[in-house]
Amino acid sequence: MPEPVRPLRRGAVTPPVHVPPEQTTVPRYPGAVAGAAGRAPHLVVVAAPAPVPPLRAGDRCARLAAGADPGALLDRELARLVTGWRILVVGTEARAQEVRAAALARGARDDELVLTPTDLADTARDRIVSCGHCHHRFTARADPGDALGCPGCGLVVHLAAHFSRRLAAWLGAPTPERAR
Ligand SMILES: [Zn+2]
Repeated sequence: MPEPVRPLRRGAVTPPVHVPPEQTTVPRYPGAVAGAAGRAPHLVVVAAPAPVPPLRAGDRCARLAAGADPGALLDRELARLVTGWRILVVGTEARAQEVRAAALARGARDDELVLTPTDLADTARDRIVSCGHCHHRFTARADPGDALGCPGCGLVVHLAAHFSRRLAAWLGAPTPERAR
């Protein structure tokens, strides 16, 4: 896996003041694993290297190895579930969102999923970025507002406060400037 792209400039763009943060598509998480409260049994997907959280009776644990395809795991696991199950995902934000996108693509509803990312305390954590110009996906260790060089097309993109749950990626908004 290539090294995460580092920002060319930190805080190159200030967030637009006319869009309140709560109206953006930046992911919001319920908090601790206690987000799995409720009577429904959970499929607990644990993406390595995250530790397995405490399981309750009836929960089912599925471990996702580093680099493994979440879709293949869900194809196996979802066949065992019936209506009423919930899916709890533990792992880095990037991995947890990949699992969510794969689950949504297989017919899960958003309210059947609980994501508990393990790296939210890292201000500049690894984020999957989708370039709005060339659609190249890459990993960047950056925050919204930072300027990045897209490894696909070479344009400078701004890491926008916009997250696509379908693509499991942050938007890299293209600029006319070239990084190389
Ligand atoms: Zn690009």
